[in-house]
Amino acid sequence: MKKVFLVLSLIGNFAFGQEIKIESDFPGGNIIISKITQDTAYIKPDLSLNEREWFHWYFKTLNISGKRVTFKFEQNNVFTKYGPAYSINNDRTWKWYGESRITNNSFTYSFNEEDTIAYFSVSIPYTEKNFNEFLSNVKNPDLIEKSTLCLTDEGRKVEKILISPSGDEPKQRVVITARHHACESSASFVLEGIIESVLNEKNLEYLRENVEFLILPFMDKDGVENGEQGKYRAPRDHNRDYDSVSLYQTTATIRNQIPEWGDGKIVMTLDIHSPWVLGGDNETIYMVGVEYSQFEKEQMKFSHLLEKNAWEDLKYYHKNFMPFGVSWNTNKNYSQGLSFMEWGLTLNGVLMSTTLEIPFANVSGATFSADGGRGFGKTVAYSIKEYLQSISAKNEFD
Ligand SMILES: [Zn+2]
Repeated sequence: MKKVFLVLSLIGNFAFGQEIKIESDFPGGNIIISKITQDTAYIKPDLSLNEREWFHWYFKTLNISGKRVTFKFEQNNVFTKYGPAYSINNDRTWKWYGESRITNNSFTYSFNEEDTIAYFSVSIPYTEKNFNEFLSNVKNPDLIEKSTLCLTDEGRKVEKILISPSGDEPKQRVVITARHHACESSASFVLEGIIESVLNEKNLEYLRENVEFLILPFMDKDGVENGEQGKYRAPRDHNRDYDSVSLYQTTATIRNQIPEWGDGKIVMTLDIHSPWVLGGDNETIYMVGVEYSQFEKEQMKFSHLLEKNAWEDLKYYHKNFMPFGVSWNTNKNYSQGLSFMEWGLTLNGVLMSTTLEIPFANVSGATFSADGGRGFGKTVAYSIKEYLQSISAKNEFD
């Protein structure tokens, strides 16, 4: 009897190959597996550190050669308008699977015989590995000083980037942050574009000669590497950690160090985010208005500059500016604690502190890509230059 069973199971293995495998034990990975059958995986995002539902997931799948597999999510709202992002046989060539591929929170993929591994994610992933690769290829790296801001609660290094004028003391300083919410990967491609432009654009000499940039690419480094949602992390997330005693080492350190470093010269802070996964405002690039009208006025100027300078694939429309008091942007939203943007307004000399939201997939009808994100970073860099120049010109007549 045993022998018969053995023979049958050998035939079974031969006929169907090994069972498909799903894994998330790599930087940025996130998935909960409920069940895997011959051709269907029942899965959902891991929300275990969250107080509310969110949508980040990212996994790799193996033993897929020649198979047709359905990935069935046991949660709503886990796909962008263009479906999942995916990369076959490596984790580098990300594409969107497509608008019409999702039915009942699931998609099906037919793998070729030569496919051995595939990566799928709600968004185009971005972790420390991507940032290091960017830095090692960037032109004019000599202008960059990379150091460690602090160690995270889990002992990881938090990158700190300084781009300083080579000669004199800087006239103005700018602070740029990203990934206060770990899963917001599209923001990181825009940040790459900003850095690249500041270093290399011929017409951005003003920035290289007068402005010092402090850039913190991973505000929730542990969350980014662990593949956590970050947004709505319990009991409060990194972007609500700017009053009373900070819970996280990174936020505590910048509250402690940035005011002194700034020495009254920080004129602008910019915090780059990504919104919710789908629909409405979440599919446009937009700025988030602050509560105080004198600061909002400065945001408006910058918003008009973004619209004017958006000559690459991804557009910005001033009409999408979200004033304080509208949609989610109300006092209730900040009841857990101050955001970086609000904290930025308290810095001595600051004229503008703003949040910029970069969609994951659909950007006013254009499709988000790594290059598209970088292109919009160029738009941001030119707008920073024009905004800072307008301030310094005004100061000369004060
Ligand atoms: Zn965010």
